[in-house]
Formats: sequence, C-alpha cells, structure tokens
Amino acid sequence: MRCAVIGGKGGTGKTFIAVNLAYIVSSKFNCKVLLVDSDVENPSVPSALGVGELKIIGQVKRFSPKIIFDKCDLCGVCAENCPPHALILIPNKKLMFLETLCEGCAMCFYICPRKAIVEDESVVGWIKFGVFSSNLDLLVGELRPGERGYSEIIEELMGRLDSYNTSYDSIIVDSPPGTGKPIKLIVESVEKLFVVTEPTRLGLHDLKKLYSLIGSLRDFTVILNKAGLKGGVESEIRDYVSSIGVEMVDVPFDLSINYAYASFKPYVELYPESSVSNALVNIARRLINS
Ligand code: SF4
Ligand code: SF4
Repeated sequence: MRCAVIGGKGGTGKTFIAVNLAYIVSSKFNCKVLLVDSDVENPSVPSALGVGELKIIGQVKRFSPKIIFDKCDLCGVCAENCPPHALILIPNKKLMFLETLCEGCAMCFYICPRKAIVEDESVVGWIKFGVFSSNLDLLVGELRPGERGYSEIIEELMGRLDSYNTSYDSIIVDSPPGTGKPIKLIVESVEKLFVVTEPTRLGLHDLKKLYSLIGSLRDFTVILNKAGLKGGVESEIRDYVSSIGVEMVDVPFDLSINYAYASFKPYVELYPESSVSNALVNIARRLINS
C-alpha cells in the first residue's frame, strides 16, 4: 500500500503525521515501511526521527545551456524567449546566463539561429537513503541550495517507488506544501491520501482547494490536526467535510507535540499513552487495513 500525507499549507503537521504513522506501522504492527520525504526544499523527516546519516544513492540532473561565445552574434533571440529570464543580453556587449534562474526547458537550445547553445547538464539535487530501524527506512529528496528543480526531484523520487514495492509492506510519502505540479505527481503515484488540515480559516480554504483538485482521483481521508484548538473554525470544517461525504479523523491539540519536535524522536515513542498517540494508532490501523 502506498499513501501520501498531503496538505495545502505549511505548518499543518504533515511531517508529524507521516513520521508517526511510519513509526507506528513499522514498530507496533511490525510492517516493513519506507518513509519518503518529498519536501525537497526542506526535508525534515530525517531530523524528526534523529537519523543523522544518509547515503547519496542518486543525483538528479537536468538540461543546462552551454553558450559557445565564439558562435554567438548577440542577436538576443534566446534572451527574449527564456521564460524565467535566465539569459540576459547586454546589447552589443555580452550575453549573461543566470544559472540559478534557469528551469532547464531547453528553449534557448532549440531557438538559437547560430547553434551557439549546446547541451550540458547540471545537478539540481540528490536522492538519499537512510535507516531508522530494521523495519523503517527513509528515502529523501533534497534540492541543491539555490536550485528550483523541485519537480525533477519529486519525479525521480516517485519514479523509484515501483522498484521498492516488493521490499516494503507500506510506502508513506510526506509531501511538500502546495497544490501545484509536484503534488499532482505524488497523488498519481499513490493509492490513498491523508489530507492534513487544521481548524483555521486558511486550513479550511486549502482543504477545499485540494478537494476540488484531487478529491475525485484517490481515496481521500481528512485528518483534522490540532482538533479542539480554541478560537478556530472547527465546526465549519466538520460541516464542509460532511457535505462532501469523505471520512475525517481527529488528532487532538496537545502542547506536548512541541517537546517531541525538540527531542528528535517520534512523538508516539515519547508519549505512547496520550490521546494524540491513540488517535495516530487508529489512523495507522486504517492505513494497514485499507
Ligand atoms: S540566440 Fe544564439 S546567437 Fe542569439 S544571443 Fe542567444 S546564443 Fe547568441
Ligand atoms: S534552458 Fe530554458 S530556462 Fe534555461 S536558459 Fe534556456 S530558455 Fe532559459
């Protein structure tokens, strides 16, 4: 079973939920689990589990233009057609390439009338592997600092999942925030979605947006994290979820979660008897039974 823990905005607790589900399924239910960190700009799963050592098992590369200045006549066609303005022409002087803005689309390569741009490659990030326990491994995507190739790394991560299918009982993907192309790639690579929201106006807004984009594509369970938080819009979220007819489970608000973050250990290991842990165990049970 492959599932993804997603949510529109950052800070709703996606990584908290994903890490603890992976911990419970691997330790309490004795399943072999691969936990995938696809928040490539800020992969925080390893530190949440206290895993310091990760091995690089792959580089993610993409097209990068190499300008042959002897051939370039400074016509400026490439600069005019570069979508993110990574090529800048200083008329009659020089053509500049700003690598950190380049999206690797290769438009300049195809459009240059003098064939003054040739194919090169640049590393946009890495795929890393780590071990938490005999039953829980980590697969982590990491963007090179200053790069913008989120989608390439997530595509590479998701492309690798098939090869891990037979080695693991469950694959759990911790997703980046947002609703764009990277999320679509993840949704298409799993069978079940846990959509984390919180009882705030923004949480409700993002939940509605996600449901309208992907609600019909996959089995969709809403996790209301921080349930019971005072002053929020919890009743509006409950009304909305009931109106769309999907399942929702609560994870109660508890300040002890913050202490677990600071200790680099799974919350469930530190507070096994708490109401938060009980809620997480029930969600993990749904996962392995689905
Ligand atoms: S399109 Fe080719 S020739 Fe024209 S400025 Fe760009 S690299 Fe130079
Ligand atoms: S590959 Fe695309 S984004 Fe990069 S410089 Fe060329 S046109 Fe611009």
